[in-house]
Amino acid sequence: MSTIALAGNPNSGKTTVFNALTGTNQHVGNWPGVTVEKKEGRLKYNSKEYIIVDLPGTYSLGANSEDEVVARDFILKENPDVIINVVDATNIERNLYLTTQLLEMGAKVIVALNMMDEAKKNNIHIDIDKLSKKLGTPVVETIASKGEGMEELIQKSIHITKVEKSCKTNISYGNNIDREVQVLKDNLEKKYSTSKYPSDWIAIKLLEGDEYVFNTVGIDKDQNFSKLIKNSVDSITNSSIEPELAILDSRYKFINSIIKESVSKPNTTEETTSDRIDKVLTNKWLGIPIFALIMFVMFQATFTIGEDLLGEFVAGGIESLGEFIGVFLTNVNAPAWLIAFISDGLFQGVGAVLEFIPLIFVLYTFMGILEDSGYMARAAYIMDRLMRALGLHGKTFVSMLVGFGCNVPGIMSTRTLENKKDRMIAILINPFMSCGAKLPIYLMFIAAFFPEHGGIVLFSIYALGIIIALLMGKLFSKTLFKDEPSYFIMELPPYRIPTFKGVMRNAWEKVSSFIKRAGTIIFGEVTILWILAVLPLGVEPYSQGSILGKIGTFVSPIFKPAGFGNWEASVGLFAGIVAKEAVVATLGMVHAGVDNGTKLVIALQQAFTPLSAISFMVMTLLYTPCAATLGTIKRETNSVKWTLFIALYTFLIGWVSATLIYQIGGLLGFS
Ligand code: GDP
Ligand code: MG
Repeated sequence: MSTIALAGNPNSGKTTVFNALTGTNQHVGNWPGVTVEKKEGRLKYNSKEYIIVDLPGTYSLGANSEDEVVARDFILKENPDVIINVVDATNIERNLYLTTQLLEMGAKVIVALNMMDEAKKNNIHIDIDKLSKKLGTPVVETIASKGEGMEELIQKSIHITKVEKSCKTNISYGNNIDREVQVLKDNLEKKYSTSKYPSDWIAIKLLEGDEYVFNTVGIDKDQNFSKLIKNSVDSITNSSIEPELAILDSRYKFINSIIKESVSKPNTTEETTSDRIDKVLTNKWLGIPIFALIMFVMFQATFTIGEDLLGEFVAGGIESLGEFIGVFLTNVNAPAWLIAFISDGLFQGVGAVLEFIPLIFVLYTFMGILEDSGYMARAAYIMDRLMRALGLHGKTFVSMLVGFGCNVPGIMSTRTLENKKDRMIAILINPFMSCGAKLPIYLMFIAAFFPEHGGIVLFSIYALGIIIALLMGKLFSKTLFKDEPSYFIMELPPYRIPTFKGVMRNAWEKVSSFIKRAGTIIFGEVTILWILAVLPLGVEPYSQGSILGKIGTFVSPIFKPAGFGNWEASVGLFAGIVAKEAVVATLGMVHAGVDNGTKLVIALQQAFTPLSAISFMVMTLLYTPCAATLGTIKRETNSVKWTLFIALYTFLIGWVSATLIYQIGGLLGFS
């Protein structure tokens, strides 16, 4: 089966092309929002199937970030039959840099010149034939968001799989470099004949001093070859400039000559609509207040739509289904333990989690709109100044925003931070970003104690997470790591009207992963907890006398100062270390037993006070992240020590914050 890979700059429309080609026929990684892991799908065309792969968005194919390495390795090692290079026509100069690198690698490339609608609107005219001739590769005009040009793109891609690969690029590096490339190439082919990589490309990379290629090809251990490279580099440096700069320069010259001949742009510096919107939204003084306001409105609207309109409906459905199954099992004389497991364990546990689907759906619909419209990029930009003042890298905030969905991709997205210090700090503070799985916990307590003020409570929780993350980031950058913060240039895509399909797809990805987790991890955990809650036989199930009750009773004194020293809360927190949804599932299950038939909300009102409900929510916001997140931290830092450190310090921060809130709140007369 042929493989077609999609490569391009971030925001060029790759995923939109990917979706247009594969439809619903796709396989997304395990986690929502992951861009580094590969997204794969299938395209059926003329009764043949093709594999489509969405590579991470990159501006170049150096070895500067993990994203670049992932994309590059895929192209070199998996050897896709065709690469569709998605190019943003409104930003063609910058996008073509990646194109030149793809061509250098000797890959079969088709350029999808995307965003043609916007290019036309901005009076950018591109001569497709000339562009294609100069690049030496086919170019197809597309408007991916409307599906235009997809048919031609597919046809050309399939066609190119059948023709011979042309390895030569039209880029000229000048005589000096060409000569040394030839020398290295000849030697490479003699010595490393088994190499999977095109030798022209390796030669260029070696002259550029690309360490990664050095190691991959295995040259790092070869003294003689190293000397040879050094000679080549010296000889180029002696007669002109360093090869690295010369090569970079050649690429830019190549791009400039193409642009000059095939692109005409109005050279006015006229203010675009995006510029005008940005004058307000990214204004020095208004930026952060507007961001806060947008977040607040989003949470408020989430409540109104998700809870008030859709919530009742789903909760009612789950309840009726539970009752129906209960009656059914009784009628067929099912054993009592099975009925108990299904009605108390599954429906009070997993069911309690599933009731939050409407809210999750609505919240991520809003987040998707903010993301696709281009506002999220602005949010990172607005926060950049504050981040720098705190000694943090601006991209850290981007990873924090991703963490709102799930900390796993949030932590993975820190890979784009090149500096080790910046990256470690970004990982250390990501768990404070409140993920989707924690949402049901807040919602449940809001329903029990603050039903009138849902939006503001939720907003405060999320804001507190951001504030604690920033404060800890500042502390770490002052104490643990002491070098200078590094800077980056943030790119702001133009504002776009999000497509209904794109937003719905994103929200559905979040909801379906939530449902999948409920059906697997949460189901498994609830089963184990249920067994612990009904054993040993003879004691009242779900009572303090059960094994689960004993565990909870044993740890509960720790939480007394924070106001929730009851055994149920301890068991919930304990369960939450595996997965955060389990907090709700566990509370649902253990309280279901206490007062049969009593709603969870009423049980919570008996076990907590408004003040201890707040301190409990803060604890769940801040304390030890879930097992999947800890696993990701271990993988990304490659350090057990850092992972344990994070597990413990977050617990401590959570406990201290919850205790302070409860104690100070008590002194102020709240209860
Ligand atoms: P990626 O980062 O490369 O995967 O980019 P996406 O596919 O997520 O697209 C970024 C944004 O551009 C989304 O809001 C898309 O709806 C929008 N978009 C994609 N293709 C086009 C196009 O041809 N024209 C316009 N106007 N918008 C597009
Ligand atoms: Mg994408």
